[in-house]
Amino acid sequence: SRQFTRPLNDLANQFNMILSAVAGAERVFQIMDEKEEKSDESAAREIEEIKGDIRFDSVSFSYEKDVATLNNVSFHASPGMTVALVGPTGAGKTTIISLLSRFYEVQAGHIYIDGQDIKSITRDSLRNKMAFVLQDSVIFQTTVKENIRYGKLDASDEEVLEAAKAANAHDFIMKLPKGYDTVLDAEGSGISHGQRQLLSIARAMLADPSLLILDEATSSIDTITEMKINEALTKLMSGRTSFVIAHRLNTIQNADKIIVLKHGEIIEQGSNRELLEAGGFYAELVKTQRQKGIG
Ligand code: ADP
Repeated sequence: SRQFTRPLNDLANQFNMILSAVAGAERVFQIMDEKEEKSDESAAREIEEIKGDIRFDSVSFSYEKDVATLNNVSFHASPGMTVALVGPTGAGKTTIISLLSRFYEVQAGHIYIDGQDIKSITRDSLRNKMAFVLQDSVIFQTTVKENIRYGKLDASDEEVLEAAKAANAHDFIMKLPKGYDTVLDAEGSGISHGQRQLLSIARAMLADPSLLILDEATSSIDTITEMKINEALTKLMSGRTSFVIAHRLNTIQNADKIIVLKHGEIIEQGSNRELLEAGGFYAELVKTQRQKGIG
């Protein structure tokens, strides 16, 4: 069962950020044991709009002294790009996202959003512009409608419905005993893993973020639901800068940029085609996954 170390009323301060995703992100990003977050720099300002231009400039970070988790990471994403983060477990993919969402602070180098150092932006206003669709979509013990509304707490029922339709979630919701008023339990029993993902996509649609973080699902999902998810994700990602933590390489072939990490360093970056032609680590990974029948 899930534990939330940070009380929900505290999270409610960040109501524009998807509450469930916050909980999910905290778990995924392993910050549950962290102390209270530092307050923003005194000069930090709220950000109103984000175009989604992201630049990592020689970023280094360690969780523990003397163990470099990220070493000299530099890359650039133009607004609207889909960037895939690829690499073995422990390579540093999640840490890149944690730094971008400021769950942790860079120790060397800089991260810029639309040319502004993220340290000069308040955490809340930054996260208000982000949405997370994570592997294990967090479901709260409340109605389907309210579960979706966590994406934007002041959304009308019409907006919730629109988001559900855009996320391909409407059809399955209508088949639930009480439709949008069906109460889900926190374990999400009564709906499938894939349907939970569709709800989480609906939430993100409603949040209408400029920056999207996707942690690709690894658990098996039936083919039809998976098609619905992929279609909804394509819609969700369009026009937003999206970071995908990829586990199965076949899903990221169309990413604008693939960043290949190993031991905290970027060893290759480019399009699928460029990286295949280069015949390096990525090409090798793709070959291995194909042989295992998971690519
Ligand atoms: P990936 O997402 O590519 O699997 P992570 O960014 O999660 O990699 O982890 C990178 C490295 O940092 C790993 O060696 C991992 O064990 C370590 N790490 C991750 N989170 C923490 C943490 N909260 N405290 C200490 N070490 C961590």
